Amino acid sequence: MPSQSPKTSDTGGCTGTCCAAFRIPHTPASLKRAVRQGRVLDGDQLLDMLIPLTPKEARERNRQFGGDGDNPFPWSDRGHHFTCRHWDEDTRLCTIYEERPMMCREFPYGKDCPFGCDCKAGEPPGGWSKRSK
Ligand code: SF4
Ligand code: SF4
Repeated sequence: MPSQSPKTSDTGGCTGTCCAAFRIPHTPASLKRAVRQGRVLDGDQLLDMLIPLTPKEARERNRQFGGDGDNPFPWSDRGHHFTCRHWDEDTRLCTIYEERPMMCREFPYGKDCPFGCDCKAGEPPGGWSKRSK
């Protein structure tokens, strides 16, 4: 069972909320297309790890793991909701941290944590996904 309260002392102040549910600028189908066309860094890895969520499921997971559920994805206004098979709900940690894709290394894209955690943006935004209309 997932833990019901953040173990932030074990995670340096991070609740892992950004891994519990997130939105990327692709639907599952458009992501597959973009990966086939070579427009997404670490595309095959993303296809393997992303689990689609409904907006309702995403809001509920956001709330369950530290967000307020009202504005759970403040920097994205398009795309689709996902969670990740590599996130451990009990420890709130990434189980492939050293091998995580560029999308995750770049987050939160030059800004502070959108969920009020301690970590500051370490790596500059690099554009892991080149959007196309
Ligand atoms: S942005 Fe950083 S501190 Fe905030 S939830 Fe994600 S990993 Fe944790
Ligand atoms: S690969 Fe790791 S950092 Fe990236 S979404 Fe999954 S659990 Fe989070």
